[in-house]
Amino acid sequence: MSVNRIYLLDHGKINADMGWFLPTPMTAEEMKNPKPRSWVSVNVISVLIEHTDGIILFDTGIPDKTEEKWPQMALNVFPVSQFSDVNKMENQLKLIGLKPEDIHFIVFSHLHLDHAGNLEVFKSFKPSVIVHEKELKYALLNVWLNKPVPYLMRDLEILRDMNVVPLSSEYLEILPGVEVYLFGGHTPGSLVLKLRTQNDNNYILTGDFIHVPEELDFESKGWLLGNAEEYYTRIRLLKSMMRMPRTNIIISHDPKLWEKYPKAPKELK
Ligand SMILES: [Zn+2]
Repeated sequence: MSVNRIYLLDHGKINADMGWFLPTPMTAEEMKNPKPRSWVSVNVISVLIEHTDGIILFDTGIPDKTEEKWPQMALNVFPVSQFSDVNKMENQLKLIGLKPEDIHFIVFSHLHLDHAGNLEVFKSFKPSVIVHEKELKYALLNVWLNKPVPYLMRDLEILRDMNVVPLSSEYLEILPGVEVYLFGGHTPGSLVLKLRTQNDNNYILTGDFIHVPEELDFESKGWLLGNAEEYYTRIRLLKSMMRMPRTNIIISHDPKLWEKYPKAPKELK
């Protein structure tokens, strides 16, 4: 009963102002002669976990045809800079010999539009969908209030017809070696997933609690910081988890992710 294989699925890239990810204080002196804004191209992934007791998908990436499915505001702020046929969910699964109906569990780090796309691919197969109830409440409330939030009603509508398991605790071991922790910080229901493989290697999947690796040094986040109190305490917890033996960290949007880890169909060690 263990995690047998882990695959990182490549769903392309989006561009974003670095200010979303890292704090960029400006001095009065700089105001007179502002530095050019710096944009960064970040990866979009989901993670496929083959466990003896079931197949788990962590997040579902972005869909194809975002130009039709995303509001213009999202396309302006987070333009999709790389996405081709191979990045579609079905084709990423095909690379490892799987089909959407093979997935038993979907675990959402959170429900932002770059993590909860592609639900339509899975909806008729009724996998169990684990999402923190704080995330569901926050997403639904803010979409309902027409707030400019990166949640899509279309994702939430599809989710309603799925087998959603709203998580209410701060910790859950879904299957042996597959642990979910409520970290918050970015969104109220942001989850971090910790995996222990059959070879006793540990992988921590940060979702968007961490967006880019530099945050670990700054111990802070840019405009995407949701709750500073949660963030400042849990980043220390995360760093202590990272110091455990044989532990690796997977930061979903890491611009250099593919220099550190292989893409599917290669598996993580
Ligand atoms: Zn994201």
